[in-house]
Amino acid sequence: MTMDVIVSLCKRRGFIFQSSEIYGGTGSCWDYGPLGVELKNNVKRVWWRDNVHLRPDLVGLDASILMHPTVWKASGHVDHFTDPMVDCKACQRRFRADQLDEQPWTHYCPATKGNKFEVPAGEPCRHCGARRTLCPECGKGELTPPRQFNLMFKTFMGPVEEDAAVTYLRPETAQGIFVNFDNVLQSMRLKLPFGIAQIGKAFRNEITPGNFIFRTREFEQMEIEFFVNPNDTIDGRPADEVWHDRWIEARFAWYQRYGLRRENLRHREHEKSELAHYAKRTADIEYKFPMGWSELEGIANRTDFDLKQHAQWSGKSLTFFDEERKAHVVPYVIEPSAGADRSVLAFLVDAYREEEVRGEKRALLRLHRDLAPLKIAVLPLLKKRSEIVATAHELRGTLARHWVSVYDDTAAIGRLYRRQDEVGTPYCVTVDVQTVGDADKGEAGDRRVTIRERDSMDQIRVPIGELVPVFRELFDGAPWSGVAARYPAAKG
Ligand code: ATP
Repeated sequence: MTMDVIVSLCKRRGFIFQSSEIYGGTGSCWDYGPLGVELKNNVKRVWWRDNVHLRPDLVGLDASILMHPTVWKASGHVDHFTDPMVDCKACQRRFRADQLDEQPWTHYCPATKGNKFEVPAGEPCRHCGARRTLCPECGKGELTPPRQFNLMFKTFMGPVEEDAAVTYLRPETAQGIFVNFDNVLQSMRLKLPFGIAQIGKAFRNEITPGNFIFRTREFEQMEIEFFVNPNDTIDGRPADEVWHDRWIEARFAWYQRYGLRRENLRHREHEKSELAHYAKRTADIEYKFPMGWSELEGIANRTDFDLKQHAQWSGKSLTFFDEERKAHVVPYVIEPSAGADRSVLAFLVDAYREEEVRGEKRALLRLHRDLAPLKIAVLPLLKKRSEIVATAHELRGTLARHWVSVYDDTAAIGRLYRRQDEVGTPYCVTVDVQTVGDADKGEAGDRRVTIRERDSMDQIRVPIGELVPVFRELFDGAPWSGVAARYPAAKG
């Protein structure tokens, strides 16, 4: 499956639009439409519920995006948050020096009279054996030597644009947690180990944004800083190392719980040479995106680097008092750092299926029920019959108190089902003639409606009065087959 299929579905069905599209777009910014905002909110909500609410050892935080400029000196971002950048002397395009060989390259091959070829990423030309040295895009220009480019967006606090007022849009949410370490510790009376979680916007002036919402200049992170006593041991191993392993496992399990297939996830251990200056060990969870395996989440052992740096630059002590050892200790920190947008992309890609049903193509999103932007669609079989329409509207109103529910009568039923399949709605409820009966003929309705399940396309007839308890069961995780077995099947 290509990225274009997802990009086009997202635009057509109101998930994601290019930012400022009517002005030609911005290239690296995207807007979440009516269904996209629901999906992204659901991703953030389940992350927050599973980590902050369900775990006894985590609390939440929402720090501001603009912070004291010294934060970024202490954290090392002013000096080190750079990527090596090269420019093509011919076409002026700009690249990240460390990613040049990760893209296909244009080659005018001398062995074939200078014919133009696109050579796969990292491979030599199969005619002349040459490797890429020139610009991968135009294939003609030499590249400048790499220069370090700081990825932080600079801005000014207050009305005067002078050096003293310079600050930055945060490039990660983590630092808001470190500078609040003592506030949270004291106000919540916490004991090690414990974590602080935060979801929020981060900004990076990426040299080469791209691949839809995978790499953008404004994005959302879901980060946890999990503080551990470095003097503790668990089963004879340093506690920080054990907790690092536990978090890697927990995060792998989390993505699978919400639908990512195991074969599309892999663990990548950072080489020593690649580790950030503060990290003892980093493991990435990579996902098989349409453009290839790429980072979905990074899980780093940041040691005591950040707390020590902020203590030094602020002059405030950022320690935990270890009652057992009667000593102050600077905790080590394990950081599972995920991208909300990259998660949305992975969930969309993994959920997308094309099936053949009775000779027709059916495109569907097999989104987990907790992630699906719309939970229930209420559909009238005949929009000419006012009792059917009125009953459907009333039902939507009742169901919407519990689950995001919509009404749609803009097409015939078959097409309405396809539309809901394509946006991942787990259940449709159809009101038909049998439900309401026919007053003119003196026929009473059976006050039952059809529930159709997205993946199996099974349909059952359920009394209107039982809809809310049935959906409560289903959205609580009861398998469809068990619930469906209690009701008569409806004809599809
Ligand atoms: P990459 O190597 O892809 O640039 P990174 O290693 O710099 O990523 P981290 O600093 O570890 O990324 O950030 C943690 C998470 O934040 C990433 O795993 C990713 O999900 C998300 N993220 C980072 N940069 C971006 C971006 N430019 N656009 C969207 N999400 C991002």
